[in-house]
Amino acid sequence: MTTAPSPTSPDWHARAGALRADGRAVVDGRRVPAADGAEFEKRSPVDGRILGVVARCGSTDVDRAVAAARAAFDDGRWARQPPAARKKVLLRFAEHILAARDELALLDTLDMGKPIRYSTSVDVPATARCIAWYAEAIDKLYDEIAPTGPGALALVTREPMGVIGAIVPWNYPMIMAAWKLGPALASGNSVVLKPSEKSPFSATRLAELALEAGLPPGVFNVVPGFGHEAGEALALHPDVDAIGFTGSTRVGRRMLEYAGRSNLKRVYNELGGKSAFIVFPDFHDLDRAAATAAGAMFFNQGESCNAPSRLLVHRSIADDFVQRVSALAPRYQPGDPLDGNTEMGALVDATQLRTVLGYIEAGHDEGARCVTGGRQVRAESGGHYVEPTVFDGVRNDMKIAREEIFGPVLSVIRFADEAEAVRLANESSYGLQASVWSSGLDRAHRVARALRAGTVHVNQYDEDDITVPFGGYKQSGNGRDKSLHAFDKYTELKTTWLRLDP
Ligand code: NAD
Repeated sequence: MTTAPSPTSPDWHARAGALRADGRAVVDGRRVPAADGAEFEKRSPVDGRILGVVARCGSTDVDRAVAAARAAFDDGRWARQPPAARKKVLLRFAEHILAARDELALLDTLDMGKPIRYSTSVDVPATARCIAWYAEAIDKLYDEIAPTGPGALALVTREPMGVIGAIVPWNYPMIMAAWKLGPALASGNSVVLKPSEKSPFSATRLAELALEAGLPPGVFNVVPGFGHEAGEALALHPDVDAIGFTGSTRVGRRMLEYAGRSNLKRVYNELGGKSAFIVFPDFHDLDRAAATAAGAMFFNQGESCNAPSRLLVHRSIADDFVQRVSALAPRYQPGDPLDGNTEMGALVDATQLRTVLGYIEAGHDEGARCVTGGRQVRAESGGHYVEPTVFDGVRNDMKIAREEIFGPVLSVIRFADEAEAVRLANESSYGLQASVWSSGLDRAHRVARALRAGTVHVNQYDEDDITVPFGGYKQSGNGRDKSLHAFDKYTELKTTWLRLDP
């Protein structure tokens, strides 16, 4: 059901109707179709409408984009500009992103189904902030002089790597791209970005905005297309120096194979998760904990790598806590993503819908108890929607506790004591994030230390910022996005040792 827009809120339906999405590639500063003219039609998961056609890039297009990126890198049109000049361009790029907020937000909402209230308030501002933050860093980073003896001067400097391939998913199309673009461009590299075939439009628009901001042609190229075509060609390319990949663990494995089969390019994988949210009975505000669990789980339709999809609750409070979380489900009933009041939108496509419903069936089959949700809804819209779903009585060895569902399905697992909570949380092939809720300082620190995860939240979940690293232990990946540490991925360390004669 669509609520009437308030007098001040934009009429997103009217804007969506007027939108013309351009899915052509951006190579060497120009919009181009695929070399062989191949294209595919992109439908919206919101209501099934056709959004436009997208260039189906293949190896010829990737060759052209990599050649453009290499030429731009080699002639220094970007890499050898003074730091202050590069900073200025990237800051302007960030401003252009903010100025195009409504258009970019609409593209992502229509492309992958997230509520417009969040694509405007989260995705666009976070993308701009990421670019601006790395821009600001450019002229504040110094290199090193090693502590040598008097007969030498040893410089330890960072240099851009060259051509970076960025392959990203559809769940936060612009933010995931920005996490690669920010540090890669700020450190002077050229980039070839392969957005997901499920969310190509905002990526190509970002490249246009970068050009308008003064980024020289060839420095930031976009090759839309499918993973096994454009993605594989990019990851296998002998002239790509590093791949920044965000996506599934299954495809992350392939990235390592591609590197092994080609030029041993660096591969940085940011992969899936099955994060544990651990609630101890000594936490003083169970309502807040429950609201945070539901909010973080159902945000973005559960299509977040760091969704706290395993809720570990001490058995003494489990009935009460499950009740509190389930009571919040009505708030997250899926609605029209173009309605400014909607909290949860559409799943990205029919395949994802089937996957999520398949996991819900597996939960029933394995004996877990569905306490709320579990059904497809709004099918009459032509889109793909699933209710917020909570399973109680889940064991950690069940499929719904082991595998990443990437949909709005929460699995509740009960524990008896702290040691069991830590063991259950760590018994996962993933290690992206975790959260511990306790009012005891000792326990909070003890458990946070024991958890094998790249980020551990204490008494909160989603408070986060570009200033801190993001990435996982174990099969959640290697390397880190965000923070100054991300520069490590896109720069080489060079030692220059000078002998000083007396
Ligand atoms: P995916 O692995 O299917 O696809 C990711 C990207 O890889 C897409 O651009 C796709 O076209 C491309 N690709 C697919 N097959 C390929 C191949 N054979 N060769 C080269 N490229 C290929 O993932 P998805 O469904 O787009 O995204 C969801 C996944 O992303 C989830 O597992 C989620 O946890 C993960 N994710 C991780 C993070 C993180 O920072 N750790 C953030 C967001 C999403």
